[in-house]
Amino acid sequence: MRTDFAALAVRPIEEASYWLATRQKKSPPSLHHPDDCDIAVVGAGFTGLWTAHFIKALAPETRITILEQKQTGYGGTGRNAGMVSNCIDHNHQLAQKHFGQAQAARLAQIGLANIDELAAYATDCDFVRSGQLQMALNETHLEDNLQTMAAASQLGIDGYRCLDQAQTRQRLDSPLYKGSLYVPGGGIINPISLVDRLQTDLQAVGVNIREDTPVKSIQKTTGGARLILDNKQIDCKRVVLATDAYSHHLLPGLLHRFVPLYDYIIVSQPLLPEQKKQLGWQNKEGIMDGRTFFNYYRLLKDDRILWGTSDASYYGNRVDAAFDHSMRHYRELQESFDRHFPQIQTTFDYAWGGPIASTTRLTPFFGHQLDGRLLYALGYTGHGIGSTRVAGKILAHMALDAKSELLDLDLAKKKPMPYPPEPLRSLAIKIVTSSLRKVDAGHKPNLVLFMLDRLGIGFSS
Ligand SMILES: Cc1cc2nc3c(=O)[nH]c(=O)nc-3n(C[C@H](O)[C@H](O)[C@H](O)COP(=O)(O)OP(=O)(O)OC[C@H]3O[C@@H](n4cnc5c(N)ncnc54)[C@H](O)[C@@H]3O)c2cc1C
Repeated sequence: MRTDFAALAVRPIEEASYWLATRQKKSPPSLHHPDDCDIAVVGAGFTGLWTAHFIKALAPETRITILEQKQTGYGGTGRNAGMVSNCIDHNHQLAQKHFGQAQAARLAQIGLANIDELAAYATDCDFVRSGQLQMALNETHLEDNLQTMAAASQLGIDGYRCLDQAQTRQRLDSPLYKGSLYVPGGGIINPISLVDRLQTDLQAVGVNIREDTPVKSIQKTTGGARLILDNKQIDCKRVVLATDAYSHHLLPGLLHRFVPLYDYIIVSQPLLPEQKKQLGWQNKEGIMDGRTFFNYYRLLKDDRILWGTSDASYYGNRVDAAFDHSMRHYRELQESFDRHFPQIQTTFDYAWGGPIASTTRLTPFFGHQLDGRLLYALGYTGHGIGSTRVAGKILAHMALDAKSELLDLDLAKKKPMPYPPEPLRSLAIKIVTSSLRKVDAGHKPNLVLFMLDRLGIGFSS
């Protein structure tokens, strides 16, 4: 069955993203105090909303104004797959490599505690703690799964379990699966319900949220900082920049630390009862496979399959609504879906893309500018649902000059290795992408990948 993706690809993101399109109607944000404030937050995605949440928890009297260029959840936050990873550091092996054994163990514990706290908060956001299955499509992936399980065990994390082919196909049936790794702790969530929950709670404690308000620039003043808007300005003591892949629009200097990439997703029609039976998938695990450019997928509440790809596109550092659709990706997504599930005939009702910020260590970084008046965190790669919450906690402590053990983590203190500027950047991405595609096709890593690995540089979405 063929989908008319060309018809889907003309929709604005508010209709294209399943989450934004099916969002419950919410009342427009109300304003509680003049916009001049103690702390201004730019960007109303998870990072901005969690930062405001934790600032209010630490210092309830703080006056906060959040400024969002479009609607809350307009960025990656309203466009993701809603798969909640148990890690805040991409994966345990990378954490060991970048931060050492002791800090990797600490990060693993923080990641799990973070998901527990998130689950306790997000009680009305369809959060199912189903864990994840890392599907092995070849022998190398089976070995990788064993190594991931060993790394988790070295860090004292229990519950990882390798499943053989039959056990895997019992959980979810595809002829492509050779086996899998069950990854405990995480699950699936409705991300826009979480945004709406945060927004409602923030408004209840007096936070101003201004939508359709792009910030044009940020300046230092004697007593703090000034945000320049289209037709006015806002003065504050400190600014938190929570704009992830959009951050270079306001701070071009940050661009050497990240690459903006676009990921794409399609969503099927609701499965028929006999199709559900054919698939299995009783436990609703979030699924990924072992390739660098992997598919990620999950069931939605109304029995649709959300089917995404990490085969992200780089558009020369541009982040713009012009890239919200990609016919090439939609066609490839349909093909990969058909290969995985030949038993399921369906068409797709939603298709969209969104920007992520990738760093060389695949984890976020933190910093400040304007003599400490401007703070930022970005670079969650494709794993931001859990890690934005921890980032919000870190930013809140930074913004209030409050003490926290989180601020001592290398993750919070150290920056990832830089990427080269253009035109070298495009060339490097092209070479690395084509090398990684060969590995996904079953070849051994080439010299380029070997060297990058030695330097601890990753490339993924
Ligand atoms: C297709 C896709 C799939 C993904 N899947 C997953 C997943 O399954 N699991 C997972 O953990 N993570 C996933 N992610 C990543 C995750 O969504 C992000 O890491 C996370 O949402 C980042 O949140 P954020 O608040 O930092 O940034 P965003 O959500 O991008 O928010 C930034 C906000 O800043 C606003 N803004 C930008 N510039 C300005 C300005 N000048 N003035 C005012 N406002 C401005 C934007 O409009 C935007 O709303 C996915 C991302 C994408 C795109």
